[in-house]
Amino acid sequence: PPAIELRGVSKWYAADPDTPPAVDAIDLAIAPGEFFSLLGPSGCGKSTTLRMIAGFEHPDSGDIRLGGTSVVDLPPNRRDINMVFQNYALFPHLSVFDNIAYGLKRKRVPRAEIQSRVAEIVELMELGPTAKRRPRALSGGQQQRVALARALVNRPRALLLDEPLGALDLKLRQAMQTELKRIQREVGITFVYVTHDQGEALVMSDRIAVMDAGRVQQLGTPEEIYQRP
Ligand code: ADP
Ligand code: ADP
Repeated sequence: PPAIELRGVSKWYAADPDTPPAVDAIDLAIAPGEFFSLLGPSGCGKSTTLRMIAGFEHPDSGDIRLGGTSVVDLPPNRRDINMVFQNYALFPHLSVFDNIAYGLKRKRVPRAEIQSRVAEIVELMELGPTAKRRPRALSGGQQQRVALARALVNRPRALLLDEPLGALDLKLRQAMQTELKRIQREVGITFVYVTHDQGEALVMSDRIAVMDAGRVQQLGTPEEIYQRP
């Protein structure tokens, strides 16, 4: 089955039923290990779609399936999905290592396993030299990598990323695009990536859903999307 499947998913925020929905009967099937982007202008429904997959919002109609199982009634912490935000949300008083280890400690993963899993992800992210530092001593790009590491160390079935590079300057953003793609290939986890930046989506994605006004207007590989007149 698809890693993530949306069938006829709609979301209305407005009380007035004549207002068009924020997300309007979307169908999507995202394959395991796919780098899938939701691309479109501000307000087209990308974040709402992502938040419904994460379980932070509930669809008003339709079905969401993870690995073939309907999760519409499952809370976020039972979906085995992690989300990365633009503003990182790191703990300022904890070291990089402890920021990454936080979720594993809370789940009472044995100490030796925490050590090895954090070390593995620190190496993958090339964060070794920063492991003992506090977040504020890091560059924006390093902080973003810590946020990614903290999500990936849980080995979720999927990672949802909402404009994760939006706070970085252009040069760093381009470097991180390449980096993110490399990391996604190495861990093999399904990524769902929200962006309004067409160049970013074209560079990184296996497939792209181009959204407008709550609907999917185009769906395909970067080549298919790009070649469309
Ligand atoms: P995008 O991520 O593409 O910028 P959003 O999903 O954030 O789009 O928003 C889609 C539409 O839903 C917009 O019109 C937005 O104003 C509206 N919206 C989003 N979140 C809320 C909310 N919590 N309450 C009311 N309206 C919302
Ligand atoms: P983004 O563009 O990154 O989706 P927004 O600025 O649209 O972010 O939304 C930021 C927060 O405000 C979100 O939690 C969203 O749910 C909420 N929000 C967005 N639009 C509205 C709205 N029209 N009414 C109420 N809340 C909204």
